[in-house]
Amino acid sequence: MELLKKLTQTPSVPGREDRIRRVICDYLQENGLVDELSIDAMGSIIGLRRARPASVTSGTPDPGSVLRKRPLRVMLAAHMDQIGFLVRHIDDNGYVRVNPVGGFDTRNLFARRVLVCTAAEDLTGIMNPGGKPIHISSEADRKKVPEIGEFFVDLGLPAEEVRQKVVIGDMVVLDGPFTMVGNSVVSQCLDNRVGCWAQIRALENLSHHSCDIYAVWTVQEEVGMRGAAPATFGIEPDIGVACDTTLCCKTPGVPDEDRVSVAGDGVCLHVMDSSMISDFGLIADFEHVARAGIIKCQRAILPRGGQDGSAIQRSRGGVRTIALACPIKYIHTVTEMAHIDDLDSYHRLLTRWLESL
Ligand SMILES: [Zn+2]
Repeated sequence: MELLKKLTQTPSVPGREDRIRRVICDYLQENGLVDELSIDAMGSIIGLRRARPASVTSGTPDPGSVLRKRPLRVMLAAHMDQIGFLVRHIDDNGYVRVNPVGGFDTRNLFARRVLVCTAAEDLTGIMNPGGKPIHISSEADRKKVPEIGEFFVDLGLPAEEVRQKVVIGDMVVLDGPFTMVGNSVVSQCLDNRVGCWAQIRALENLSHHSCDIYAVWTVQEEVGMRGAAPATFGIEPDIGVACDTTLCCKTPGVPDEDRVSVAGDGVCLHVMDSSMISDFGLIADFEHVARAGIIKCQRAILPRGGQDGSAIQRSRGGVRTIALACPIKYIHTVTEMAHIDDLDSYHRLLTRWLESL
């Protein structure tokens, strides 16, 4: 949990992933988890872990390898960016206006502590929408849901000092702790530091594997899956596995048919969302491995929403691709919640499947 905590407490919004990239790269290198490590032009991390078969004589040979003249190439991809903001404007009173990078529900942004991350330091600020407090607002004011552009950050400093410290383009993230609540982990940006973490844990767990594994931590997923496509083009994988999170709405106020997934029932095999349909053969393979290893997993369909798998699937001549996802309650808030059984099954299933290839 220490690693997951560190990943969630490292601010990195789309296009500003330098901090999380450093944390992941340092961890991979310190623990010798990959044979080659590179960063592509957009900033995605590509870690190559060459095939390490159990022994040259055991196991069923991969029949396709003769035709390919190389081991099966599997790409894992977890986006390492988080939803947040970039500083757009500093007004004459020192209030900071922001531009969103990623999809927020503005109802979750009232009275939030935020971090304005500058080159020199991270400044704590308070985010609120413009408008009057309840004491002096009209009934119509109170019913209004503000647009994202109406929010501002108060740094408690005079305009001159704010302008000295903050520049247009500095990133702003919500600030919340990483805590255990019952059998769950609660934090900001579990979407998708959970996927980043699961890939690292799988690399740590692996005892042997006959495939070459390209473990990728992608950039700019939250603004439209921009980093995954060029990374996939360069790797030319045979199989893609997108490691992300999904909705878990088995909560009050949501009809059961709209729950998407159930907390504690295991990692989701994402059958489809509005961006892709997972390869059905891969779903069957993962379910077979799950049954054999007594690892929990569940199928899920997300009617709206997408993830990196869609960019991987459509690369070059097409790539057989599946999306894995951890059920997350209260997704895209500062209190995202993941059940420990789902975290556990995520990296164990990914590990066993890689070993099965
Ligand atoms: Zn995500």
